[in-house]
Amino acid sequence: MTFSHSHLLGIEPLPPSAISEILDLADQYVALNRGDMKHAEALAGLTQINMFFENSTRTQASFELAGKRLGADVMNMAMQASSIKKGETLIDTAMTLNAMHPDLLVVRHPHSGAVDLLSQKVNCAVLNAGDGRHEHPTQALLDALTIRRAKGRLHRLNVAICGDIAHSRVARSNILLLGKMENRVRLIGPPTLMPSGIADFGVEVYDDMAEGLRNVDVVMMLRLQRERMDGGFIPSEREYYFRYGLDAEKLAHAKDDAIVMHPGPMNRGVEIDGEIADDINRSVIQEQVEMGVAVRMAAMDLLARNLRARPREVMA
Ligand code: ASP
Repeated sequence: MTFSHSHLLGIEPLPPSAISEILDLADQYVALNRGDMKHAEALAGLTQINMFFENSTRTQASFELAGKRLGADVMNMAMQASSIKKGETLIDTAMTLNAMHPDLLVVRHPHSGAVDLLSQKVNCAVLNAGDGRHEHPTQALLDALTIRRAKGRLHRLNVAICGDIAHSRVARSNILLLGKMENRVRLIGPPTLMPSGIADFGVEVYDDMAEGLRNVDVVMMLRLQRERMDGGFIPSEREYYFRYGLDAEKLAHAKDDAIVMHPGPMNRGVEIDGEIADDINRSVIQEQVEMGVAVRMAAMDLLARNLRARPREVMA
C-alpha cells in the first residue's frame, strides 16, 4: 500500500497513484455490497462521527452505511440542533468531539477551508464531505469509479461538466481529478456561472451546449445552486433549461455511447430532462449512488490503516 495520507480533505493533494488505489479498493467493496453478506471488519473498534453543518441526503446516508458495513460505531451529530446554534465556534465543537476519541470525522461545512482548519485541531482522520465551493473529494472519486467502470478506463476521455460551475465544489474536485488522470475536460455554461480564473485549470470553456458536447464520452450535469447565489445569475429557469438543460436533442451532439451523470439532488426540468435522467441506457445516476458507498468504504479503510499504523501525535 502506498496511500500515505492522514486525511481526505480534497483531490488537490492526491497523486494519481493514490486516486487509483482508492478506486481499486472501492471495486472490491462494490462486490461486497452486491453480495448477501455486506459486512467486513476494516473499521471494527473504531468510532466514526458524521458532522453535517449543511443539509445532505445521499452523502450522509452513504457515509453512514459505509461506516456500518465496515464495522465502525457510527454517530450522526445533528448540527442544526447543536451548540452551533448557541454560538459555539467550529473549533470548540471539534475540540469537544475530539475529547470523545473519535477515529474518523466526516465533515460538511458551508465555508471553504473550514474542514481543513478542523483537521489541524483534532487527532483523528478527517474526511471532507463538502466545504463551501471548495472541494467534495468523495463525490469526484465516486464519479471517477462510475466512469472507469462504464468506459473501461479513466484516461483520454472527453468529459463535459455542464451548468453552474461557479458555485460547485463537485465541479472543482472533478476538474482536478480528471485532469490528474489525463482526461480532456470541457466546461459548458453561461459566462455568469463560470468562475473567474478558470483558464488556469487547463480546461476548455464553452457557452453553447451543442458545440461543447460534440464528441464527448461523458456528460456531467450540475445542479443550479440557488442557495449560493446572491443575485440574478440566470434570466429564468425556463430560459436556462432551453439553453443549458440536457435533453435528447442536446445529448445527440455527444458520442452515441456517452454516459449522463448528475451528483444529485436533481432539478428535473431545470438542468436535466426527467426522461434522460431515467434512461437506463444513458444515465448512470443510480450507479453513482452505488459507487458512493463503495468509495467511502475504501477511503475510510485506507485512512484507518494509516491511523492504526502511526502514533496520533504526528498526525496533521
Ligand atoms: N450534493 C452535491 C454537493 O453537496 C451537489 C449539489 O448539492 O448540487 O455539492
